Amino acid sequence: MNRSPDIIGSLVYGGTYALVVASSDWLRLQVGKLGVHCLPPGYYVYVGSARGGLNGRLKHHLKSEKRLHWHIDYLVKQASVTQIWYAYGENRLECVWNTMVAGLPGATSIIPGFGASDCRCRTHLTHFSTAPPFGNFKQMSNIWGLPHPHRLKSELF
Ligand SMILES: [Zn+2]
Repeated sequence: MNRSPDIIGSLVYGGTYALVVASSDWLRLQVGKLGVHCLPPGYYVYVGSARGGLNGRLKHHLKSEKRLHWHIDYLVKQASVTQIWYAYGENRLECVWNTMVAGLPGATSIIPGFGASDCRCRTHLTHFSTAPPFGNFKQMSNIWGLPHPHRLKSELF
C-alpha cells in the first residue's frame, strides 16, 4: 500500500476534526472518571479541535504508545481510527460539528460527558452501526455555511 508522505504532518493549521473509530466487537471501556461503559460494535465519531495545528493533535490520536490523557484515548486504545474528517479555521467549531454529527442518519449520542468537559454538549461521542455518512455531513456543513470539510481514509495515514 502506498502511504502518502506524512499527510498528517502537513496539516499545520488549527481547525476542527472528527475521528471515526471502528470496532467489530463489543468493547468494555474504562473511560477515566466517567467509569466503565459497554459499547456496541460499529463506528464512533469523536469531535475535537486543535488551535495550534491539527498535525500535533492528530499524531497524538494515532500514536499507539501514550499516556491516556483525553477520553478519546481510552477508546482509540481498543479500536482503530478509520477516517479523519477535518476543516481548517480559527473558530472553535467542535460543538457545532458535534451537533451536526449527532443529527446524521443512524446517529446515537453515547457516554454523557465524553470529550465534553469544557463545553455544554451532552457528549462529543456518537455511535453509528454502519459507517457515518460523510456526504451528508458535507452537505450540512455547506448549508450551515461552515468551512469545507475534508476526509482522510486510513489508507492515507
Ligand atoms: Zn461541545
